[in-house]
Parts: sequence; C-alpha cells; structure tokens
Amino acid sequence: RENSAKITVMSRSENESFVRAAVSAFVSQLDPTLEELADIKTAVSEAVTNSIVHGYAEKKGDIMIDIYIKDDKVKITVTDNGCGIADVKEAMQPLFTTNTDGERSGMGFTVMETFMDNISVNSIVDVGTKVTMEK
Ligand code: ATP
Ligand code: MG
Repeated sequence: RENSAKITVMSRSENESFVRAAVSAFVSQLDPTLEELADIKTAVSEAVTNSIVHGYAEKKGDIMIDIYIKDDKVKITVTDNGCGIADVKEAMQPLFTTNTDGERSGMGFTVMETFMDNISVNSIVDVGTKVTMEK
C-alpha cells in the first residue's frame, strides 16, 4: 500500500482544525485505533500551531502538510517558510519557549515526540522550518 496527500493552508489559526480533520480523514484508511488517531491529530496540531504562532508571527504565509502512507505507517511533514529556529536542540527541550506572555508552556515538541514514533526538525533562520513525524 502506498498513498499520499498534500494540503497547503494560509497561516490562519482557524486552519488548524481544518488540517487536523483532513489528516484524520486521510489517515483513517490505515484503520488506526482511536488512540492512534488522537495521537496523530494532536501531534499535527502542535506542529501547525507552531508554524502559525512562531514561524509566521511577523508575516503570514503558507503551511504545507504532506502525508505519505506506506504499508501500515504514516509520515507527515509540516513545513513553513517562516522565521526559522536558531537552535533546534534547545527549542526541543521540554518547557523551552520563546513566548513571554505566559500563554505557551514549551511542550509542543515534547508532545510530538511522545505521541509519534519518530520526529525530526530541520530549520534555517529566515528560511523556514520542516517537522517530520512518523508513526
Ligand atoms: P506550546 O507548544 O506548549 O504552546 P511552544 O510553542 O513555545 O509552547 P514548542 O512547541 O515546544 O513550545 O516550541 C518551542 C519553541 O520552538 C517555540 O517557543 C519557538 O521559539 C520555537 N518554534 C517551534 N516551532 C517553530 C516554527 N515553526 N518556527 C519558528 N519557531 C518555532
Ligand atoms: Mg508549540
């Protein structure tokens, strides 16, 4: 089995729920358990939210979501052309956040790591960020 889908949305907060529903609908062909599906939706939400609130904090742009299914595994990439991350290793530490108004807990990457089998982050300052997750 092999299948793929690509979704591109503008960085608007209301698109986070659209992406979550679209990914959920596409991944359902693998007959995941409700728990697996919830894990994937949560991880994708965190990545898309990061692109919206951090990557595109200064200027809006597109967020590209690629879903690739191979046998019973799914690989999802979330890519933005936003501000990028200067130190990815630091950004991925639990509780690390650059947000200062106390609204963010710095747990997004930790949630992605917990709910997916594998996650990698590639980022270049002023070019953008790509998060790759597998389950
Ligand atoms: P939370 O996810 O708990 O609301 P958070 O978003 O700050 O808080 P993480 O999702 O773990 O925590 O991200 C950690 C930090 O990495 C962010 O504070 C931000 O500085 C940086 N970051 C994450 N994703 C991006 C992105 N797509 N573009 C630019 N910076 C990012
Ligand atoms: Mg976050």
